[in-house]
Amino acid sequence: MAEISAIGVRKGSTEPELFRIEAPKITKPNEVLLEMVNVGICGTDKDIIENSLVDAPEGDDKLILGHEGLGKVAEAGSGVKSLKKGDYAVIIPRHGCGICMPCRTGRSDFCETGLYTASGQHRRHGFNSELYVEEEEYLVKVPRQLVNVAALTEPFSIIEKAVEQIRQIQKRIPTYDFSKSRAVVFGMGSVGLAAIAVMRANSIQTYVLGRRGPEDLKVQLVKEMGAAYVDIRGKDVNKLKEEIGTADIIIEATGGTQLVIDLIELLGRNGIYVFLGIPKGTEELCFNIKGMIHKLVRQNLLIVGSVNSQKPHFKMALKDIAGIQKSHNNILDRIITHRFTIQEYKEAFGQDKEGQIKGIMDYTKK
Ligand SMILES: [Zn+2]
Ligand SMILES: [Zn+2]
Repeated sequence: MAEISAIGVRKGSTEPELFRIEAPKITKPNEVLLEMVNVGICGTDKDIIENSLVDAPEGDDKLILGHEGLGKVAEAGSGVKSLKKGDYAVIIPRHGCGICMPCRTGRSDFCETGLYTASGQHRRHGFNSELYVEEEEYLVKVPRQLVNVAALTEPFSIIEKAVEQIRQIQKRIPTYDFSKSRAVVFGMGSVGLAAIAVMRANSIQTYVLGRRGPEDLKVQLVKEMGAAYVDIRGKDVNKLKEEIGTADIIIEATGGTQLVIDLIELLGRNGIYVFLGIPKGTEELCFNIKGMIHKLVRQNLLIVGSVNSQKPHFKMALKDIAGIQKSHNNILDRIITHRFTIQEYKEAFGQDKEGQIKGIMDYTKK
């Protein structure tokens, strides 16, 4: 039996582990065998490890990590049409439940039963393995010139779905024009940076809130993308409002501090606030609910959550990534600051390194 290496966590453990697992094989005509190339490392992976949130596939006692995957086709099943040997593809992590209508029509991001599975997160193994087999339906071909940054497609796709939601919801305003929006982005992790990049790719005036000084590399990248950076240290929401005015769109990608709630105050008339982060810990957040209802009603405000993404968003993400690379001198190359080999898995899934923005597992690096 041929074996390959894979990185995951065992149930009950709070340490990443290098496993030897059976090499996957194509068993159906619609399947594709991928040699994994790059797999993004993100806060979700570290959260799974640190808090032992191992939601293993049925009958297994471990979860292979990774939901931001890029692979190279090693073999395509006889029924595969969109990919051939040597092509590159990104993988869509969520598989539908097969029961509800959204899942049966390719939109498992709106699964109604909650019985979906998600690679590297929920009852399905992730992409951190040397080889991976996936059905064609969950693969999106990547143009060659984007291969070095394509591991960013999944976090970008989360934003593409959010933008799709904003555009659709805001059609409630008869004269709505997305391109004239003023956006505020809170959060500078993978998803926050993707939000800034996608907003700027759409020429949206963008303000980024953070707790970093002007010398920070992330802050510099944000400015290079044409967004305005606001250091929020020592400032309350009223001070922010004075400084930057109100927002038509707020995108929250930090995961729950008091400011996340206070920022509702920053929404301008007919505005929309999108929550993407998930609060951690047990700290209680407070808000004047009565005041909020006044504001929501009087100003037609909307607060909405958005999760996951599907094929259309992966395609949009690749399009925007290409656009940003072209208009901003391959700026996304500089977001991927660390590439780890499979032997460096402990380091890769440990504390962020000095100057780290985005780390990826690089299976082409030995
Ligand atoms: Zn992620
Ligand atoms: Zn479903």
